[in-house]
Amino acid sequence: MSKQPYVVFATGNKNKVKEMAKLVEPTGVRMISLAEFPDAIDVAEDGATFGQNARKKAREQAKHLREWTLAEDSGICVDYLDGAPGVYSARFACVNRCDDKRNNQLLLEKLEGVPFDQRTAHYTCHMVLANSEGEVVFEAEEICPGHILFQELGSGGFGYDPMFQPLGYETTFGMLPAEVKARISHRAKATKILVPYLFDLVKDQRLPLK
Ligand code: IMP
Repeated sequence: MSKQPYVVFATGNKNKVKEMAKLVEPTGVRMISLAEFPDAIDVAEDGATFGQNARKKAREQAKHLREWTLAEDSGICVDYLDGAPGVYSARFACVNRCDDKRNNQLLLEKLEGVPFDQRTAHYTCHMVLANSEGEVVFEAEEICPGHILFQELGSGGFGYDPMFQPLGYETTFGMLPAEVKARISHRAKATKILVPYLFDLVKDQRLPLK
């Protein structure tokens, strides 16, 4: 099998790896997840913003592994809750990362009795690419606006997707085909900005091959 340019994708979230691999497919760049790097470090997501967390994850992992490293921090911000859970999206219902069911249940509880027009929310994705010296070479932040529905619908996507209805659609990411999310999501929009940059890196042969 011929070798392919690659970057390390600094996440343990299999759903994100799956989504990203598909989104960057046209560039020919492989996303290798941290699962394939047993000596990867655990970088604490203790920043106050998605940008701080994403930069920290990309820089520290790249420096440690000496590999080109892509990191993203993402989450959902609900207007009625003054932007919560935001950077705490993965651990909304507990101290550490907890399962989607508990997070979703807590969000529904916090929005009990709140009418549809006040249930506006948006996903945010902040994406950072660091070179093998740990220098940030690319950064983008995008959002996907919508509403939190009154119950979970469908099982597509992950995380808050079964309750999130993107603007302009009649149902949730849990129900919509994966192709829709791959077109309009926060991660898809940030990746659209990344893709031309990856094409250039490939053309200039700056990425390692595996
Ligand atoms: P991170 O892995 O620390 O960036 O946590 C992101 C958390 O935000 C996930 O655990 C989900 O709860 C939520 N999240 C981020 N992106 C999405 C998405 O595309 N769909 C649903 N939930 C998401």
